[in-house]
Amino acid sequence: PEHATPRPIQALPDQLISQIAAGEVVERPSAVVKELLENSLDAGSTQITVRLEEGGVKRIAITDNGRGIPPDQMPLALARHATSKIASLDDLEHVGTLGFRGEALASIASVAYVTLTTRTADAPHAWELVGSHLGTVTPSSGPTGTTIDVRDLYYNTPARRKFLKSEQTEYGHCAEVVRRIALARPDVAFTLTHNGRTVEHWNVSEIARRSAQILGDGFAGARLPLDETVGPLRIRGFVGLPTASKARADGQFFYVNGRFVRDKVLMHAVRAAYEDVLHGDRFPSYVLSLDMDPALVDVNVHPSKIEVRFRDSRAVHQCVFHAVQRALAATSATSHGNTPS
Ligand code: ADP
Ligand code: MG
Repeated sequence: PEHATPRPIQALPDQLISQIAAGEVVERPSAVVKELLENSLDAGSTQITVRLEEGGVKRIAITDNGRGIPPDQMPLALARHATSKIASLDDLEHVGTLGFRGEALASIASVAYVTLTTRTADAPHAWELVGSHLGTVTPSSGPTGTTIDVRDLYYNTPARRKFLKSEQTEYGHCAEVVRRIALARPDVAFTLTHNGRTVEHWNVSEIARRSAQILGDGFAGARLPLDETVGPLRIRGFVGLPTASKARADGQFFYVNGRFVRDKVLMHAVRAAYEDVLHGDRFPSYVLSLDMDPALVDVNVHPSKIEVRFRDSRAVHQCVFHAVQRALAATSATSHGNTPS
């Protein structure tokens, strides 16, 4: 109220700052899954297991076989604004890792019970850290790699907890995040379990097979490969034939430098390329990766990094539009050629 005496200005305690940030960084269990998976990939893992309980609300435990964290750095991993991925503004402009903000683990640890167990290849055994960066690192056991076990998300912030949807809905979002990331990295094996049951397992393979596993046989039997390089841009992947289109936009996967994005420029370019072959009420299916020098794209737009900004969005639009259009045109030419007369 206006008449109340204003409080003096005070610096907020660390824990509270992380809890406020958590609202943006981890708005639901699937966001935790995304952050942990990105960390595992940044650590060079080739095998990642995601264990969920009760839609991720009760538990999210991710185990990888990446490079691990040396014991003396474990508290820093859970501290806010601490990262091994960038050290300067110049690094930020060329960032090649999925993470770089150094706030995910601190945010998660401020709104859930977290246990970090990790071992580097040269360590005689694993180490464990429970709770936060203030905890004590104790000896543990386990193979090289890292497990981050997150329990009871939002146990201490009931207002946020109330916004969570049903177990099935939260699980669905988590599984979608795993699919998005697994599609981008066929060179990594993924296992997903929910309430003790293995739901998905994808072995290391290549993109054609991984995309068939994740998008289904309907897509696998009706997709066109493309791979084009235009100046500094390389676009590759698969676009679905109109017969693989859907009534919902749930078969659309676009990656920029390995990062799943939903970007207006890219979606518009694809849509425009399909204009002649697809009805306006149908959604094309596709798995496309656009790669470029990291300096040409700003991924630091939002904490979730699902939005990006291109240095030259016109060039990006043209590159995507023409590549998709050419891929679609090539088949109609081929199929005409194949038609017996
Ligand atoms: P960021 O990924 O932006 O650096 P995080 O809070 O997600 O911030 O992680 C903090 C740091 O902890 C990382 O920079 C990395 O050094 C380390 N780390 C986190 N997860 C893993 C993991 N699975 N394997 C190895 N190191 C990890
Ligand atoms: Mg991270």
